[in-house]
Amino acid sequence: MEDTLRHQRAAAPVAPTAEAATTFRPLPVSAARVVGGFWAQRQQVNRTAAIPAGLTRLRENGVFRNLGRAAGQDEGPYEGPVFIDSDVYKWLEAVAWEQAREPSESLAAEQAEATALVAKAQQPDGYLNSFVQVVTGAAGRFADLTSGHELYCAGHLMQAAVAQHRVTGHRELLDVAISFADLLVDTFGPGKRPELDGHPLVEMALVELYRETGDARYLDLARHFVETRGHGWAAAGPHPRPRSYYSDRVPVRRAVTVEGHAVRALYLAAGAADLAAETRDDELLAALERQWQAMVTTKTYLTGGVGARWDGEAFGDPYQLPPDRAYCETCAAIGSIQWSWRMLLRTGAARYADLIERTLYNAVLPGLSLDGNAYFYVNALQVRDGQADDDRRNPANGRAGWFGVACCPPNIMRTISSLGSLLATADDEGVQIHQYAASAITAELPSGQVELAVATDYPWDGHIEITVLAAPDQDWTLALRIPGWCTDAKALIAGAGVAEAGEPGRYLRLRRSWMAGSSVVLDLPVPVRRTVAHERVDAVRGCVAVERGPLVYCLEQADQPAGVLVDDVQLADGDGTAVWSPDLLGGVAAVQMTGQTTPDAMSLYQPEAADDRQPERPARLTAIPYFAWANRGPGPMRVWIPLGRPG
Ligand SMILES: [Zn+2]
Repeated sequence: MEDTLRHQRAAAPVAPTAEAATTFRPLPVSAARVVGGFWAQRQQVNRTAAIPAGLTRLRENGVFRNLGRAAGQDEGPYEGPVFIDSDVYKWLEAVAWEQAREPSESLAAEQAEATALVAKAQQPDGYLNSFVQVVTGAAGRFADLTSGHELYCAGHLMQAAVAQHRVTGHRELLDVAISFADLLVDTFGPGKRPELDGHPLVEMALVELYRETGDARYLDLARHFVETRGHGWAAAGPHPRPRSYYSDRVPVRRAVTVEGHAVRALYLAAGAADLAAETRDDELLAALERQWQAMVTTKTYLTGGVGARWDGEAFGDPYQLPPDRAYCETCAAIGSIQWSWRMLLRTGAARYADLIERTLYNAVLPGLSLDGNAYFYVNALQVRDGQADDDRRNPANGRAGWFGVACCPPNIMRTISSLGSLLATADDEGVQIHQYAASAITAELPSGQVELAVATDYPWDGHIEITVLAAPDQDWTLALRIPGWCTDAKALIAGAGVAEAGEPGRYLRLRRSWMAGSSVVLDLPVPVRRTVAHERVDAVRGCVAVERGPLVYCLEQADQPAGVLVDDVQLADGDGTAVWSPDLLGGVAAVQMTGQTTPDAMSLYQPEAADDRQPERPARLTAIPYFAWANRGPGPMRVWIPLGRPG
């Protein structure tokens, strides 16, 4: 297909221009491919179960009918929440990345059909929002930016369009997105409408559309939206919440932490990071680094999940991280990864890849059932015996096939579909591997092409073999991330006879004349380890969590002996033993530990001196990876486990 665009970007979700300030260059989704093991299984489930079931749900829940009504080809009242168009855009983005992984005629046909409907629903001046078109008419356009989500939906359209164009070269959806973006450029900005969308996202989408088209007006509009936030314009609508809810209390470059609705705050930060890269704005970058650090040191769960409060789906105060009432929306975890990925590309600091790893395994993945057919919206770290209500988001009710507000399911789909892009990057010196998976990686260096084969059973095992299949005839650097949790990492270069020690939380940079046939074995020991929280996290004082490699573990009721209730256990000393369990939950390394249980006979309160606790009984406890919980029905579960009281 003929394409006259000036800027052709790598077919990945984030593709900075050559002018951007970047340390690492992303690789196309098709050039960093998962080929086996843990993530291949998850990608297969995503492709064969989640994405097709998602299409069925989109057909059932009215989003296609709404678009049909907007296009004038369908009758009936509008269905669903105001932002439901975004579900189809995220699904389309997932399908685009699937086409990059492995083209499929049926996916292409579904993609073409949905794209044609979206195009048909667009109005002649570029406007597109099925709620406004069907329910309020033209008078409702941009009339409630605080809660209408029109620019949020526009942003998801742009991201899907960019993905589709990067992967297939097809312009149809891109032209829809450009037409809408042009309308936004004419409507918003200095001297035009001053308000902002209550839900950020359009910022990073506009930057990516700029990257794809070369049209600097989109970058300028993204800059306007980022710089104007913090002055009350996002909360200027008819029924606003407090400004902090919209990250609209403090300007982005002055903010010292993240606050308010977690998904909004994180999408804003990701967009600001894109802007900082494209405009080479180091002051904005420094502000984002400061906020990221505050998030990681005071507002992030052990799982990488963020957003401690159900009220407002929001970040809590520093150290307010209750495990049982954790919100940890799956979308917030995805937003955190999107932000960290942009910070990693810009700075090259391994801490960002560390958080991506923690969040992927322990905050995104639990959002999807092992069979790919059900989702968590809320990812709490504890569910109690007897916990129940009729809120479908309550994890005590188990995962749901879909939600009335279905932001999370297609967000997981597009994340897993584009996962390859998070594995590795390149710079002029060589290739960096950030996430370990059985994979095939191809990167272009100034001196020539590098092809790598990565063989590993990660995360179950920390043994990683990297073989060079092709390489330029010059020295280049293979940089391997040593996870922050890993002590005693060693890399043994075949034939060199020396082991290089790796420092936790850094890249181990191996520069040499890597030739085709060269190989290196990276050994990341994954013993069971115990973790405690900062003392200010009152909710888990006196508790430990169990981790192994990148995985956070939990006790789920289904794995404990009869008569031992998860709510009543304490851990004894000793780290526990990992046991490969091929028949458990599709094959996991479980962790067996000794502990004790105390029968529940205490009064709710009593004088400190009159301890009426019952004597403990020893108990064998079995922990499983947290991502795999609630696949055998709902029930009690906990990540943080009390330590046994001193004898
Ligand atoms: Zn969500």
